[in-house]
Amino acid sequence: FDVCVAPLAMPDGQVEAALVTLRDLTEIRRVERLRVDFIANASHELRTPLASLLGFIETLQGSARDDPKARDRFLVIMRDQGRRMARLIEDLLSLSRIEQKQHVRPETVVDLAQTVRSVVDSLSPMAEELGAEIRLSVAEPALVKGDRDELLRVAENLIENAIKYGVRPDAASALVEVSVDTTEKEAVLTVRDYGRGIAPEHLPRLTERFYRVDATQSRARNGTGLGLAIVKHILTRHRGKLSISSRLNHGSTFVASVPLHARGK
Ligand code: ADP
Repeated sequence: FDVCVAPLAMPDGQVEAALVTLRDLTEIRRVERLRVDFIANASHELRTPLASLLGFIETLQGSARDDPKARDRFLVIMRDQGRRMARLIEDLLSLSRIEQKQHVRPETVVDLAQTVRSVVDSLSPMAEELGAEIRLSVAEPALVKGDRDELLRVAENLIENAIKYGVRPDAASALVEVSVDTTEKEAVLTVRDYGRGIAPEHLPRLTERFYRVDATQSRARNGTGLGLAIVKHILTRHRGKLSISSRLNHGSTFVASVPLHARGK
């Protein structure tokens, strides 16, 4: 608590009372800590690939200068590190854009089913490369009011995660089930995988920025640790919600729901 005491003096200068103000700082401190942690995390995430890039540049200028084989190998690593930084900056910018638009209600009518279909099409090369099979079932149309690019991003992040974390090292292939259904009031996107799953203690924190169950594994799969934070923000803006259920070593189910577009409104 922040305590402030102010004497209340009478016109003759005599102090007869005092005004004591107590200000609860818990929330202010929490927000401040989140902000400091966020900046520290973002800087750390950028510093690692940057240090690697600088290191390789120095090696290329020095001992590897006349070794074409080493040079080619180092250039591939440098390109990947550059891409990692670009991805991180892209995600940071998305997050900040979404946060700034917090109170603007998106206005176009979007078919979530068709949006998800196009995401699945664009992710199928990645699924194939990682040995995952996507099974899609959609009930068209599933009309919601919102920002198509943002809803596309929700589907992309959830399906990409299911592909990345759904393939177990011991399995030859993995199944990712994606569906879009409508209930009386909502359009519901369900993404299910049968991969490594998530232990219960991690579930409440998954949508925090930079929270990862296994940072090494996430980085190895080009993760930035911001995907689910972005998903949650977008859904909140659309008055929707995200629910996650998972069983360790059995797989996970991510359900994103958004209110259906009510005609005439
Ligand atoms: P990342 O860029 O690391 O994938 P996300 O915010 O998308 O970041 O996800 C946060 C963390 O949640 C991931 O690092 C991973 O540990 C875990 N996670 C997300 N989706 C899944 C999934 N389908 N199966 C298992 N773990 C998952």
